[in-house]
Amino acid sequence: MKIMPNRMDYGFLKYQEEFEEKALSVLRSGWYVLGNEVKTFEENFAAYTGAKYCVGLASGLDALWMAVRLLGIGPGDEVLVQGNTYIASVMGITINGATPVFVEPDKYYQIDADKLEEKITEKTKAVMVVHLYGHVADMDKIVAICRKHHLKLIEDCAQSHGAMYKGKMTGTFGDAGCFSFYPSKNLGAFGDAGALVTNNPQLAEDARVYRNYGSEKRYYNKVVGANSRLDELQAGLLNVRLAHMREITEERRQLAENYSRSLCSKDIILPKEREGTFAVWHQYVIRTRRRRELIEYLNEKEIGTIIHYPIPPHLSEAYSVLGHKKGDFPITEEYADTVLSIPLYTGMKEEEQQFTIECINSFA
Ligand SMILES: *Cc1c(COP(=O)(O)O)cnc(C)c1O
Repeated sequence: MKIMPNRMDYGFLKYQEEFEEKALSVLRSGWYVLGNEVKTFEENFAAYTGAKYCVGLASGLDALWMAVRLLGIGPGDEVLVQGNTYIASVMGITINGATPVFVEPDKYYQIDADKLEEKITEKTKAVMVVHLYGHVADMDKIVAICRKHHLKLIEDCAQSHGAMYKGKMTGTFGDAGCFSFYPSKNLGAFGDAGALVTNNPQLAEDARVYRNYGSEKRYYNKVVGANSRLDELQAGLLNVRLAHMREITEERRQLAENYSRSLCSKDIILPKEREGTFAVWHQYVIRTRRRRELIEYLNEKEIGTIIHYPIPPHLSEAYSVLGHKKGDFPITEEYADTVLSIPLYTGMKEEEQQFTIECINSFA
């Protein structure tokens, strides 16, 4: 039995008829960018998250950099972000000329709220929280720190669609929630797509103008914006999938629970859900010092795994300009050396998960 780390085809096949019907109707409509499907998706996704406004964009990265820029953050400003994030979070900051200041993660792989304040300087303008792996950061503490120090709060929710802290959706705690709908995300499109959610009418309006070359009225350009429009095909397909999000999330939670209940090995640390939070398990990330051996062992059994992420942004070649070196963020680096994501996806079959569990448990 060959098991891939992720199966996007299963997620399509599960709702195949609905997706195909929607795709055909968009193709036949004669309208392809920023139309009724986008408008409907923005309304539906705002309602889903509980935010007042949603602006559909071309990608998660666009949502991040636009949020940073439209909140007035640029050269000379510092943004706190967790060290073990996907590099796109950091790019959302540096595209604007601002400086990322890395903070170590806690044991739930989220930004360590107890280490935030020591990083704040007079240049600090914002905190970017990344709800990594579909888990949730310690929001009460983070929101309180942002209020106390008058910092903007941006949430990178590319991996946390539907995840909650004390019943409140991630993406609604601060100034902006930034979502990606890249195909492999929990709420995935069939190409690139993203969105920004906010309760701030001005920010929503600015993002709407910005995504379309800075024009509100055709050929009248208010600001130098960008092209980050969401297309009708992606929005339509997202409308189909969004209607099934409760089921999609429950399935992931059940798969995660099965792993947590059944995996047992003294060499492996299992992920935990923070108290008071509702995780959506974008990844099921275990940790082991014997990672290379485990990957090889599972490979022999034809079980695929992925490392999220092998090189932390501060050690990435792209960010050598920041001048960090190995040892600067020991927890981040320890995680990068030991984390491993095991297969978990919509439509995962019972025998696929059972076999994965047996193989990991027989690794000794
Ligand atoms: C996927 C991802 C992004 C970027 O989203 P794109 O749609 O690929 O631009 C940003 N941050 C995190 C944490 C992600 O996982």
